[in-house]
Amino acid sequence: MNLLYALSIVMIVCLPSSGAAGPDPNVVASIKPVHALVAGVMQGVGEPVLLLKGGASPHGYNLRPSEVQSLNQAQVVFWIGRELETFLIKPLGNAVGVRSVELLRAPGVETLPLRESGNWEPHAHHDDDDEHDHAQAEAGHRHSDVDAHIWLDPRNAMAMVRQIGAVLSEVDPDHKADYQRNAAALSERLQQLEQSLQKQLESVRGKPYIVFHDAYQYFERRFALTATGSITLNSERPVGARRIQDIRERIENNQVICVFSEPQFKPTLVETLIKDSSAKSGVLDPLGADLPEGPEAYFQLLNNLAAGLRACLGI
Ligand SMILES: [Zn+2]
Repeated sequence: MNLLYALSIVMIVCLPSSGAAGPDPNVVASIKPVHALVAGVMQGVGEPVLLLKGGASPHGYNLRPSEVQSLNQAQVVFWIGRELETFLIKPLGNAVGVRSVELLRAPGVETLPLRESGNWEPHAHHDDDDEHDHAQAEAGHRHSDVDAHIWLDPRNAMAMVRQIGAVLSEVDPDHKADYQRNAAALSERLQQLEQSLQKQLESVRGKPYIVFHDAYQYFERRFALTATGSITLNSERPVGARRIQDIRERIENNQVICVFSEPQFKPTLVETLIKDSSAKSGVLDPLGADLPEGPEAYFQLLNNLAAGLRACLGI
């Protein structure tokens, strides 16, 4: 009897003290690459909720009611910023007590101006907004001149990770040590990723190619690649015959080796463009549409871009 009694005491004492460091925070991330970085910083503490799943494009997206609800329940929402996820401007403006973190404005993130010269199709993000939303988005901030695809430079990802770690440590100080340790480990891996990509992409430098939409400026700059233009932002808006002719001429004149489509868009346009030319077609995915959610998605996304470029541009 005594032994049994003693055992039960031991068992009670040894039960895992669930939630000793407080419950994990309710965190939402907008797009998969942002979600991956947040998930990396939260590893061992909790998992963030991903808003835009699958192949949905952040350009001109509209939130469903269930998604608005998960926004309102969040303590923190990490997103790129009003330049990219225009669909978040209004719901986040209305959400009370939700901390909104625009990573484009994080310390250390370097931004580049949008390219709008002849070869680069203008990258407007407001096409689907009505007059009112548009005016509201434009009021107070001039933002139409920044390229929002900041995550495709691993150095920007490092700055984003620092900010994610700092914000989570403030919101959930009980887990500060976890966030700081995870952020440091992630930064280390991002540094290694950059070095590895520099090596992987050596063989494709100087080889001209055309991309589907102008999402890859940060990647090109960091790795000294030779993109010569983009086709369109939105395949639902037909590309005019004149523009098709222009791009076909550019493929000839610049000896473009590859024209890349994206998984969200039908590749028929690309096939039309390269018909009767020596150019090949490939696929690049700036969002990681098909990648499993989680910390590895960021690394897979960038490695897949390098693999896609090498597969099509390599000899
Ligand atoms: Zn884009």
